[in-house]
Amino acid sequence: RMLKRQIACRSDINRMNGAFLSTYESLIPPEEEKIKQKQLLALLDGIVSKEWPDARLYVYGSCANSFGFSKSDIDICLAIEDANIDKSEVLLKLADMLQLDNLQNVQALTRARVPIVKLMDPETGISCDICVNNVLAVVNTKLLRDYAQIDVRLRQLAFIVKHWAKSRGVNETYQGTLSSYAYVLMCIHFLQQRRPAILPCLQGMEATYSVTVENVECAYFDKVEKLYGFGSHNGESLARLVWAFFNYWAYCHDYANDVISVRSGSTVSKRAKDWTRRIGNDRHLICIEDPFEVSHDLGRVVDKFSIRVLREEFERAAEIMQYDPNPCVKLFEPY
Ligand code: ATP
Ligand code: MG
Repeated sequence: RMLKRQIACRSDINRMNGAFLSTYESLIPPEEEKIKQKQLLALLDGIVSKEWPDARLYVYGSCANSFGFSKSDIDICLAIEDANIDKSEVLLKLADMLQLDNLQNVQALTRARVPIVKLMDPETGISCDICVNNVLAVVNTKLLRDYAQIDVRLRQLAFIVKHWAKSRGVNETYQGTLSSYAYVLMCIHFLQQRRPAILPCLQGMEATYSVTVENVECAYFDKVEKLYGFGSHNGESLARLVWAFFNYWAYCHDYANDVISVRSGSTVSKRAKDWTRRIGNDRHLICIEDPFEVSHDLGRVVDKFSIRVLREEFERAAEIMQYDPNPCVKLFEPY
């Protein structure tokens, strides 16, 4: 492995830990938000079961994967067993019913990459997106939530990274930067690579959970309560991990040859996946393998302009973590 630059971490890094922990704590959603989300879910459940008695609603994304900030929108998947349904028809019908029930700003976006109905609940002020039969997203949400249970530093690190990405404008897939989902996978990968490792590779262990969704077999060890304390041989603080995370993406990751792979607990080569050249719009300039849809590169949205923006932001963050007397302020400065 070729490392472009190996830097020693500043000696006073652990003094910054309190500031990072406070930032993390300020972003955690308060308990009453969870209660409001449950209320809204129950309301929607009632509406949906009138028309589709066998259907089920699943929360996925940030409200269910434990990486959600306060005031996040809820992502919901309406799962209907019937294979013959037309998604657009279902969404249009659902939009009508929601409107009749006085939900606000109801909008069916049937032509989006993931077709959804958007709505806002006037009682709680919560917005949500409902999609149909996007069950893989429900399963990858569970994987992220299970990883988060193993070591609290994953949730802490991912909150800091997401907050940084949102502050710096690099969490915008329509502008060629990365999704929150991609950033969380980068954090999991990073913690799998620490020595001693802070996270195991759940998909590399005996499967205790297994489902097949859209012909993709999703199997992994999900008895995470057995893994509490897995990372306790590694005593690195949050501040040190934030430093090392940005250092990794600024100076250590081999963008030309490597794909990060939470599935394998390591990196795999771009050559092995045939991700070495541009095909259509997929350029593979930063490669993040989806843990289940392994032909899916979450970095596909990144183009030759946004890769520069991203890498400059990683370098900026790494510099701040190395030299700034008060990194927690500068890191999150609006761009
Ligand atoms: P935020 O706090 O920014 O809303 P989020 O956790 O909801 O974060 P998103 O990136 O909006 O993250 O993704 C929501 C969910 O949709 C993810 O948890 C994941 O299950 C799924 N998802 C998002 N992008 C992809 C993708 N490219 N491929 C597969 N699943 C995806
Ligand atoms: Mg979301």
